[in-house]
Amino acid sequence: MPELRKDPVIGRWVIIASERARRPGNFIDTSDIELEDDKTECAFCNNRRKPIVPGSPSEEVTVVRSRDAVLDGSAEFQRAKRGLYDVINGFGAHEIVIESREHVANIADLPLDQMASVFETYAIRMRHLEKDGRFQYVLAYKNYGPTAGSRKIGHSRSHIVATPVQPLRVKEKLIGAKKYFDARKSCIYCDLIRQEIEARDRIVCETERFVALIPFAARFLFETWILPKDHHCDFHNGIKGNEKDLALILKMYLQKLQTGVDDPAYNFVIQTAPFHAADPNAAKWKTLQQDYHWHIELMPRLTRVAGFEKGTGFYICAIPPEDMAEYLRGIEIKD
Ligand SMILES: [Zn+2]
Ligand SMILES: [Zn+2]
Repeated sequence: MPELRKDPVIGRWVIIASERARRPGNFIDTSDIELEDDKTECAFCNNRRKPIVPGSPSEEVTVVRSRDAVLDGSAEFQRAKRGLYDVINGFGAHEIVIESREHVANIADLPLDQMASVFETYAIRMRHLEKDGRFQYVLAYKNYGPTAGSRKIGHSRSHIVATPVQPLRVKEKLIGAKKYFDARKSCIYCDLIRQEIEARDRIVCETERFVALIPFAARFLFETWILPKDHHCDFHNGIKGNEKDLALILKMYLQKLQTGVDDPAYNFVIQTAPFHAADPNAAKWKTLQQDYHWHIELMPRLTRVAGFEKGTGFYICAIPPEDMAEYLRGIEIKD
């Protein structure tokens, strides 16, 4: 049974996956090991697991429970103190969204409607997990390519993990956005989108409802944010009706990466607001709906994080964001 342990100094929760560590070969990465038991056949082309209901609106997309869940959905939620340490048993949910029946590796190579169904599926599952009441946060993310945590390039899929605590990175964003809102009475992301669209020098591509840009203080080569132009704090409510437009901008962006940056490994994470109804600290986040703005962070894995970054939290980005954006804007993509 995995265990959630809180760092007593900075408040960051860590999942201690004790059972996995005993398996040889798992020391390199433990984030996406679904294919390991099926070396001869793809476990997603030959899915024998029962689909989760309510799952997907499309026959092409299936949701199943992860066989190697980082958190255990069947466990009872228990929180305990060990001296000055906080511990929660590994309660949570870990689901896999199998994005295609075909053996396609990159989501960018799926038809637009199918990509849109993947986003609709995330929203269906998030709404369902929110109702549980014991979860504080849900993260939908994708690892593509061997250095991004996906063991083989294999079969296009993504993960949905619900946690009983709030991740520190999310908390940092919430605090920053709230501070800005308290001072200016506006959403920092809405203001940022306005300024970026006006300046245009960090924009990679744009659709009617979304904009993809290299952030002003990018940490990694070609780090990109995809932001909805309409304000909404939650992905699962804000995406309604915009799934196809999100599919369009993600496809455009990923095709530029495939052509211009040699199809690199990448991670994407959906940064949505915490489940506010279930959060015992909800009063603290009373302006959450106005001050936070969901978005996607996309991180191609072209740089290794070294000692300096790990020791300081400072990242060194080798190319100015404006030059990266200009380069990607210039990459022609097929229709
Ligand atoms: Zn497959
Ligand atoms: Zn906003």
